[in-house]
Amino acid sequence: MHLAMDQFHYRNGQLYCEQVDLCELADQVGTPAYVYSAGTLRHHYRAFAEAFAALNPIICYSIKSCGNLNICQLLAELGAGMDVVSGGELYRAIEAGADPSKIVYAGVGKTDQEIEQGIKAGIGWFNIESEAEFENIAAIAARLGQPARGALRVNPDVADQRTHAKTATGHKHTKFGVNIDQTAIFFDTYGKNAHCELDAIHLHIGSPIYSPEPYVQAIAKVLTLIAQLRATGHVVRTLDIGGGFAADYETDASPSYAEYAKAIVPLLQNEDLRVILEPGRTISGNAGVLLSRVQYVKQTGEKRFVIVDGGMHNLIRPAMYDAFHFIWPVRVDARHVPPKRAQEIHLPDLVRADVVGPICETGDVLARDRALPPVDRGDLLCIFTAGAYGMVMASNYNSIPRPIEVLVDCNNTKIIRQRESYMDLVAHEKCTGSV
Ligand SMILES: *Cc1c(COP(=O)(O)O)cnc(C)c1O
Repeated sequence: MHLAMDQFHYRNGQLYCEQVDLCELADQVGTPAYVYSAGTLRHHYRAFAEAFAALNPIICYSIKSCGNLNICQLLAELGAGMDVVSGGELYRAIEAGADPSKIVYAGVGKTDQEIEQGIKAGIGWFNIESEAEFENIAAIAARLGQPARGALRVNPDVADQRTHAKTATGHKHTKFGVNIDQTAIFFDTYGKNAHCELDAIHLHIGSPIYSPEPYVQAIAKVLTLIAQLRATGHVVRTLDIGGGFAADYETDASPSYAEYAKAIVPLLQNEDLRVILEPGRTISGNAGVLLSRVQYVKQTGEKRFVIVDGGMHNLIRPAMYDAFHFIWPVRVDARHVPPKRAQEIHLPDLVRADVVGPICETGDVLARDRALPPVDRGDLLCIFTAGAYGMVMASNYNSIPRPIEVLVDCNNTKIIRQRESYMDLVAHEKCTGSV
């Protein structure tokens, strides 16, 4: 993503988010803190929409990547639909003002209550994951006297070899979707259902997908399938190709939107299909960082540890997926301004250390054996590209209140989620009663 991967940049050795000095901001709001750039969110959404404009797609932002209401609102105002995976996310989407007809609802375990909520809200599509789920949605729609619409989630048996095993969803041994060989029977059985209209196909092959090829393979398989379905009298109006478009965890590591679009658009342009896209991390990933303060630096034998106040309770991706996040001090000497974000930075006088959090778990690591400028107690570190699957996966493990979230827009800063308090930690434990 060569054009402005985000709006976090060093000026005179000092990191800014848009026009805001992040040292000053951290002094004001404390640490750890998630900071988001509104300009980056807008830029990514618009650039993505522009790249795929020839398909006139419905773009459904994946709320699970970063669900703060204010961020959903910002994207809904730009015209984004929403991809939701629970009743709670559906609630967020509606609260954010998203157009219900542009909401798609995925997930293998939707409850009756959640399905009812979706039908009553008039969402665009349920992405259907099994026969039993289809029958349940149809039965609930019949009972409510309100129609539902479904897209069958097809498992195309395509996987990106580089995608971590915990985030690959498109090969046939995952829990997601219906086997591609079973699709014809599925449409024969349910294609004419009176209560749940089945007229769409959904794919989501995993995330992140680091090149356009897996999409091309999956779409090719599914287009053959759609042709077969149409030839046997079924109606397929819509194809949802899911999310998984990469974010730049390192500078220029991911394909540009133009590269994805160049491979995908020609396949779908003349297909008489409405196209849905479900980008999550590619919109939100680079738009957020986690600011964390160094508590202690500790040398034990060969190993050096930089112990910070953020950790797996704030950002679990390194611990859970072995994910790489670029980490660098917010204020550095001129010679330590990073030339790019990469796994290895070659500058003079860097010191290797593990960056770890305060949690009582060996796995509470943000970076291993990372060359960093020398840091001391009290220094501020920035963990970059933390906007996606960051705060949404944060927990209160070890009874630590979750961080504050701040949205920067040019030189304005807005608190979009208060830092939790100790009272918040126990609030739901004080109103206990008998069953
Ligand atoms: C998680 C998910 C997405 C978004 O994935 P990203 O990698 O954030 O783009 C889209 N669609 C479905 C069905 C998902 O589960």
